[in-house]
Amino acid sequence: MGDELDVVVIGAGVAGLATLHLLRGQGLRVRAYDAADDVGGSWWWHGYPGSRLDTEGASYQYSFSEDLVRDWGWSERFPAGYEVLRWLRFVADRLDLRRDIVLGTPVVAAAFDEERARWTVRTGHGETVEARFVVACTGLIPGPAEALELDGFAGTVVRTSRWPEKSLDLGGRRVGVLGSGTPAVQLVPRIAAETAHLTLFAREPVAVVPRVNTMYGWQERDAYRSRFAERRATLPHTVTGGEDGHRAGDPAGLYADGSRRLWFGGPPDAAVAGYVRAAMTARLDDPALAAVLVPADDDAPMALDAGYLEAFGRADVTLVDLRADPVAAVRAGGLELASGAVHEIDVLVLTEEPDAGPPALADVDVRGRDGRALADAPETVLGLGVPGFPNLFTTAAAPAPTSARAVMTTVRQHQAEWITRAIRDLDAAGGSTIEAVAADGAAVDGVGDYVARCEAETAAGYPSFRRG
Ligand SMILES: Cc1cc2nc3c(=O)[nH]c(=O)nc-3n(C[C@H](O)[C@H](O)[C@H](O)COP(=O)(O)OP(=O)(O)OC[C@H]3O[C@@H](n4cnc5c(N)ncnc54)[C@H](O)[C@@H]3O)c2cc1C
Repeated sequence: MGDELDVVVIGAGVAGLATLHLLRGQGLRVRAYDAADDVGGSWWWHGYPGSRLDTEGASYQYSFSEDLVRDWGWSERFPAGYEVLRWLRFVADRLDLRRDIVLGTPVVAAAFDEERARWTVRTGHGETVEARFVVACTGLIPGPAEALELDGFAGTVVRTSRWPEKSLDLGGRRVGVLGSGTPAVQLVPRIAAETAHLTLFAREPVAVVPRVNTMYGWQERDAYRSRFAERRATLPHTVTGGEDGHRAGDPAGLYADGSRRLWFGGPPDAAVAGYVRAAMTARLDDPALAAVLVPADDDAPMALDAGYLEAFGRADVTLVDLRADPVAAVRAGGLELASGAVHEIDVLVLTEEPDAGPPALADVDVRGRDGRALADAPETVLGLGVPGFPNLFTTAAAPAPTSARAVMTTVRQHQAEWITRAIRDLDAAGGSTIEAVAADGAAVDGVGDYVARCEAETAAGYPSFRRG
């Protein structure tokens, strides 16, 4: 594998697959590497029971190919994680991407040679490869897991962001789940009936709205497929492609929709947040549970649920409020709390939010001009380029909007298209390098603003980048 390439893509998730396809379509020699054993990115890693999209599948698609949308049909309004993973496998197969993807291979270092305008990329298997460009489609580090010293625990520890694809058998076991964010909301009701006993060690709660998840047959699929052209035009400018105005409706109507519409455009206003809190309190019908599971703040993160709150009504499910009674010691057989209470468990699940931490590229030894380390260059231009790092493009850095504010297939596809165009324009101009020069540091207001600013950059001839 010592051959020369035009582009090394790191990552084979939503961003990496689109980037590989689009750059290859431009006649470039491209190879993608992923540390995972299959394509799919975070959907491959976060294979815990209950993992699911909170975005409607109809919006969670690429719009660069109508064939892909026509030939793939979601089976539900909000598809399960394994179905999203199957979709990304379908994309890789249908676009014949696998011949240029090296799986099970982390990239550990990349260094730019200024004289030759080439990147040398090193993998964890000791191979090196050269390329003109590196496109980091590395996503965000999930986070944060509970910082507990777990060496003394004799049971099994599993992270939701490293859940083995062949599901871990939780049947008949005493399971502790640490954390009360979105992964816990999805996991708890899914496993509660299976475990011998389930204990949720809760921290900050999230606002939950019951997911209205209808099954999709050919009629529903035809309905969203027939809107392909409209969605392709609206998705880059709105959260989900035209439905953003629903946020202005009455809370009861929005709540009954069972989607994220209550949160479109940002955190909900006080009336909406209050409505959701009251609904959660009514569902729990127990002030002690509500004190732990209902958020106090209007701007708490939100998640869609399917029986999360009701699971705590079961005799074999225990709720622990770690804010009131923190972990004092990890014992071989479970967790001991400050109050002296001991919760015996066989399996401890550490929950981690997908896309919550810093860019995963921060874990790679990336060296730009003068051997400068990427870790010392926190600024990006539109999350696409980093000053001092010519011919390096990134896709998961701020200020690009995250999944809490946008549909990630839209954002990542837009970034892949922008990068593809930037390389094409550079080649057409006879240049060999493109380098971000100055970050304006301005905050981005949602996906529409982000896309508009990226498009303005291209239209103006890349004023925030230097070409050489
Ligand atoms: C349970 C769950 C629910 C979600 N719900 C939604 C939702 O409702 N709506 C939404 O828009 N998004 C949602 N997301 C977010 C989801 O992560 C994004 O939609 C999208 O998949 C991110 O794609 P990506 O390609 O940018 O990054 P990732 O999917 O994280 O892919 C990055 C890839 O890069 C690889 N990689 C990283 N570093 C290296 C390295 N050094 N060497 C080699 N390979 C490397 C990783 O192995 C990974 O496969 C959800 C995610 C999960 C897990």
